[in-house]
Amino acid sequence: MTESGKNGPSSIEVALKGCCPRCGKGRLYKGFLDLAPECEVCGLDYSFADSGDGPAVFIMMIAGFIIVGLVLWVEFTWSPPYWVHAVLWIPLTLALTVGLIRPLKGWLVAQQFRHKAEEGRLEK
Ligand SMILES: [Zn+2]
Repeated sequence: MTESGKNGPSSIEVALKGCCPRCGKGRLYKGFLDLAPECEVCGLDYSFADSGDGPAVFIMMIAGFIIVGLVLWVEFTWSPPYWVHAVLWIPLTLALTVGLIRPLKGWLVAQQFRHKAEEGRLEK
């Protein structure tokens, strides 16, 4: 297996399963969103992985686009009372954002691993 994970899991697999981006067997997370320090199977050090605000930005764009589109459609189609909007959109917003953040973070970590993305450094 190569260091860049060419024979490892795809980024989509890492996103859906929350597995190690190199071997695909160990777990990526130790909590809901906290990364484990390293893979317990192949020993890959996860300290390279820093997705920062990336997942949140994608979630805001994806969930915002879906939910605002639905809100406008429902409002202009049926003009329901405001409580209907509250009942529909608060749970949907929570489900979409909480449901997407973990796969998106896993996907970004896998992309980082695959493409060796890291902070820029000045060469000496
Ligand atoms: Zn591993």
